[in-house]
Amino acid sequence: MTASKPQYPYSKPPELGVLREIATGVYWLRMPLPFKLDHINLWVLEEDDGWTIVDTGLATDATTDLWESLYKTMSSEKPIKRIIGTHMHPDHIGLAAWLCRRSGADLWMSRSEYMYCRILLEDSNREAPDEAVAFYHAAGLNEEQLNYYRSKFGAFSSLIRGMPTIYHRLKDNDTLTVNNHQWQIVMGEGHSPEHACLFCPELELFISGDQLLPTISSNVSVWPIEPLGNPLKDWISSCHKLKSIIPENTLVLPSHGLPFKGAAQRLQKLTDDHERDLQIIHENADTPKRVVDFFPLIFKSKITHSTLVLATGESYAHLHCLIDRGMLSVDQDEHGVNWYQRI
Ligand SMILES: [Zn+2]
Repeated sequence: MTASKPQYPYSKPPELGVLREIATGVYWLRMPLPFKLDHINLWVLEEDDGWTIVDTGLATDATTDLWESLYKTMSSEKPIKRIIGTHMHPDHIGLAAWLCRRSGADLWMSRSEYMYCRILLEDSNREAPDEAVAFYHAAGLNEEQLNYYRSKFGAFSSLIRGMPTIYHRLKDNDTLTVNNHQWQIVMGEGHSPEHACLFCPELELFISGDQLLPTISSNVSVWPIEPLGNPLKDWISSCHKLKSIIPENTLVLPSHGLPFKGAAQRLQKLTDDHERDLQIIHENADTPKRVVDFFPLIFKSKITHSTLVLATGESYAHLHCLIDRGMLSVDQDEHGVNWYQRI
């Protein structure tokens, strides 16, 4: 059977901060983001005795204000019982601690995401470590770019209003019962360490977070904390995993963009695009090149200061994947810069 083209049953999103019911007891909630990517989708599940919220939005005044008025309406009916964080990126869990405090709800996340977030918050209070600067220097960033990185180090904490001191762990294959429906936890990797998706076969819904998006390719990066990581291998195997789990008729509820059907074709496209980039890098590594030398080959738009860290991480991810496949070698020169060449 050939996978069908993605279909979008909703042509328009709900207004910011307004709940739209898309299945019995399942609501779509959109919050603003002050970036080029200007929104995030959150999901609200209703039960007789309370609400479960999946992701919270970024810690901005705009999102806090929208939540304030929504919270008044929701809590006048019943309490918020549970807040689920798909993963630790600030647009997803920026207001988790604030909402937990406000409502008395508990936070549910995977262990890696929760711990990683706590580490990043801790790191925000110090200067960029030498190892992290060396990691970007090795990629070929110049001194001015490294200074920009140093100046922005720790910005994570400005986008997130703390983390609750405790959390409850979500594990792969766990089941949560919400409103008499079973939601299976499906973990993905690559975009973040242990990203939770929620799958309800009965309602034919799959809350995908950033693990599966309809039009954007999620960032897959190597980070200085794990400089030899191979997240692209993890990402590709997670795409295969999701493909084997999500039935064709399932409505995918992504964090960005519109809900869609046709997960298999979208997952195939995501892996095909990475495989094409891997091939391009391999072909062009006939002479030794640095991480930054691959930017024009795999990114359509010009890399600026604001996209430099993500572009470096994503390029490292492709290079490490090729090294793992035995197709590329790396040598570090006497200045601490890495040079990659195909084998
Ligand atoms: Zn994310």
